Amino acid sequence: MTTHSPASPAIQDNSIATTTWDAIIIGSGMGGLVTATQLASKGAKVLVLERYTIPGGSGGYFERNGYRFDAGASMIFGFGTEGTTNLLTRALAAVDATIETIPDPVQIHYHLPNDLKVKVHRDYEQFIQELGDRFPHERQGIRKFYDECWSIFNSLNAMELLSLEELGYLMRVFFSNPLACLNLAKYLPQNAGDIARRYITDPELLKFIDIECYCWSVVPADLTPAINAGWYLAIGTTAASTIPKAASAKSRSN
Ligand SMILES: Cc1cc2nc3c(=O)[nH]c(=O)nc-3n(C[C@H](O)[C@H](O)[C@H](O)COP(=O)(O)OP(=O)(O)OC[C@H]3O[C@@H](n4cnc5c(N)ncnc54)[C@H](O)[C@@H]3O)c2cc1C
Repeated sequence: MTTHSPASPAIQDNSIATTTWDAIIIGSGMGGLVTATQLASKGAKVLVLERYTIPGGSGGYFERNGYRFDAGASMIFGFGTEGTTNLLTRALAAVDATIETIPDPVQIHYHLPNDLKVKVHRDYEQFIQELGDRFPHERQGIRKFYDECWSIFNSLNAMELLSLEELGYLMRVFFSNPLACLNLAKYLPQNAGDIARRYITDPELLKFIDIECYCWSVVPADLTPAINAGWYLAIGTTAASTIPKAASAKSRSN
């Protein structure tokens, strides 16, 4: 990789200018890096140009006064070993690389008004128990709502994840996993708010689900597609919830 700044000595390296590249990728965010590694693993000669001083884009970090901050993403998924949602593990494996990860014991620790403190534990039962302790009258609804999120996640985790714009891919996925596809199709017209209100009536708990959705989709539950919510609200409580060992500590307050 080289940098893009005119002052950069790397750009003055003649070998870069005189080499014939099969592909030149502009930007070394996760998208650019994964594209580059996939092409390189197939034997292509690839040049990645980045205008910033370090690679990573929104998945990168910066340091101030001895503290390390995430530039954007703070919970990178895809480092699991099972299912099809382990996209980053597979992207790294394509170029014989690995990254050391550690289990993320608590994905988000919410600190909300009315002293509502909830940890999204990696252990699903522990999360359900903790939320149920805070809303004992909604224990059953909580279980049903998050079980439904899990059913969506399991369907996604059973199918090959590629571009939804490729018709050939959609057909292949449907015929290889019709049950998971039909399960997901059922959720297409639904949003997370619809599902939550089917099981839950407590306004404070519904507000909590709104905030959970907001953390992921930047809109409340009524505007968060059920399939997105299923993915995000379940994945923190799976074995796939791992983070790179070097990742910074995180905590979100609302
Ligand atoms: C606040 C925030 C939180 C997020 N949280 C998560 C999360 O928890 N989990 C998760 O999976 N995802 C998360 N995301 C999303 C994830 O970070 C992005 O989807 C992903 O990093 C985007 O990668 P990208 O390669 O498409 O773009 P970017 O990461 O934006 O990379 C683009 C790169 O291109 C470079 N560039 C741009 N123009 C030029 C140019 N002309 N010449 C050279 N280089 C150029 C930029 O400097 C940058 O390095 C979050 C994003 C944000 C902003």
